[in-house]
Amino acid sequence: MRKLKNIELNRISVNEFKTLEKLPVVIVLDNLRSLNNIGSIFRTADSFRIEKIHLCGITATPPHREINKTALGATESVEWVYFPKVVDSVNLLKENGYTIVAVEQMDDSITLENFKPAAYDKLALIFGNEINGVSDNVVDCLDACVEIPQFGTKHSFNVAVSVGILLWHLYLNHITK
Ligand code: SAH
Repeated sequence: MRKLKNIELNRISVNEFKTLEKLPVVIVLDNLRSLNNIGSIFRTADSFRIEKIHLCGITATPPHREINKTALGATESVEWVYFPKVVDSVNLLKENGYTIVAVEQMDDSITLENFKPAAYDKLALIFGNEINGVSDNVVDCLDACVEIPQFGTKHSFNVAVSVGILLWHLYLNHITK
């Protein structure tokens, strides 16, 4: 086996990315404090070609050197918008027909393997702060909550890792069906 060179990966340009159809998923970042996590989420959102990221509350916005350390330019391809209040982001998405799903550890959550949204449903996925999780005032607006099972000693996944797990799950179970 041989590792592929970057040129052999045949990636699309930012301009081409902007013209292509997107996965009907909006990622809502509810008060994320780590700029490296924000950048990492942009990079993953670019790979899965999602529609948009809503950056809410204390979540920092591009351009920012610390975001770009992990985004590696994905802030240029993936659309984003800033909302001072996460509830305003969620209400707007609800008005526009998105199913509002928190990715969080909650009672009454669906475990990820049972999360099978109807194909091409418009989905808003809310991810929470590294310490406090998803804001309490968002919980009343939810259509569903999805929890990723864990089998080790730690309470939670890193938030950027959680985004990756969810998008891959959607790719397998939702996008392609
Ligand atoms: N409340 C957590 C900390 C939040 S982790 C704790 O007590 O440790 C940051 C975010 O990552 C969460 O708000 C959630 O969006 C996501 N997350 C982490 N682990 C998760 C899991 N097992 N299932 C679903 N989401 C998770």
